Amino acid sequence: MAITLKPWACHPAQSRGRRHTEAPAPTRDDFQRDRDRIVHSTAFRRLVYKTQVFLNHEGDLFRTRLTHSLEVAQLARSIARTMGLNEDLCEAISLAHDFGHTPFGHAGQDALDECLRRVEPESGGFEHNFQSLRVVDVLEERYAAFDGLNLTFETREGILKHCSRRHADELERADPGGVGHRFLARTQPSLEAQVCNLADEIAYNAHDIDDGVRSGLIEQEQLLAVLPLFARFHAEALREAPALAGKRLLYDTIRRMLSAQVYDVVAASSALIREHVPANVDVVRASPPLIGFSPGMRGDVEQIKAFLRHELYRHPRVVATTDGAKQVVRGLFEAYSTQPGELPAGHAVADYIAGMTDRFALREHERLTGTVPSWVR
Ligand code: MG
Repeated sequence: MAITLKPWACHPAQSRGRRHTEAPAPTRDDFQRDRDRIVHSTAFRRLVYKTQVFLNHEGDLFRTRLTHSLEVAQLARSIARTMGLNEDLCEAISLAHDFGHTPFGHAGQDALDECLRRVEPESGGFEHNFQSLRVVDVLEERYAAFDGLNLTFETREGILKHCSRRHADELERADPGGVGHRFLARTQPSLEAQVCNLADEIAYNAHDIDDGVRSGLIEQEQLLAVLPLFARFHAEALREAPALAGKRLLYDTIRRMLSAQVYDVVAASSALIREHVPANVDVVRASPPLIGFSPGMRGDVEQIKAFLRHELYRHPRVVATTDGAKQVVRGLFEAYSTQPGELPAGHAVADYIAGMTDRFALREHERLTGTVPSWVR
């Protein structure tokens, strides 16, 4: 079914284009082409062996960066389709949004950031969003004519979700008015980029509850006691199916929470758009954020985030493995910095480590240091 894009959506024919000019593809528009380039990239295949919250070796059913990215794409596409926004662009942004993540999730990123700041205080450290852009702009090696994937401005704008002042300045110097500009001018990205940001948040809140319960680190009773949104849909699920229990009850509750958040975003954002009626995406960029939850749902979502922070991300068992993971990243950084001959030619230490999967990082760590961390079973 052909869907008419709203005037405030990103229209492929009005794209700000690619950094290197290319002839149009005969069967696909530019955002569909971006999505396809992303799916065929090396960085995309690496996502399957990268940690989301639980380290990759802890179990086969936990989310990885790949399944997380697919869930973000599903949510973002669903919101975009309903709102007359560009579904292909949302898919492209979602599938690439975590390309810059190091092995071992946030622990790996924190360790790499510390190492980089210590040896290169002027570098601005390591930021995964900035690194995601580096992957698609520079690090992928697939084309004869250019480095990177040569994606459109709109996809790159969405991938660069956050950016420090220092990195924004660096981007602006290289490409005035480019994707770094909005962090200096404090303007917004396209609605599609805003949808992907929110879909990311909806996805990880839901799947971290699921993975947290699966791991045994959090209990359904805790969720019921402290999260009104969870309690509301748990009660609704039991009203409709009183015999429901255990995992199925958890899944049913999470499914209802996900739908409620999507409907809430669509309703609240559509109301904001009706109020502003942006004539096109450039007016969107100059407007306040137009994609968001209603104030009530925002409150519920903040409660979920606070709960996960305290009960899951800072759980002693999670912290113990993430501390171990940091040591692996520090060990690798140290080893490559003192023995640059161990790096493949033309690679920078931070880019090389950031690109690793969890298990490749562990293998390299063992090869270079002769040690296997005790937390690896
Ligand atoms: Mg994400």
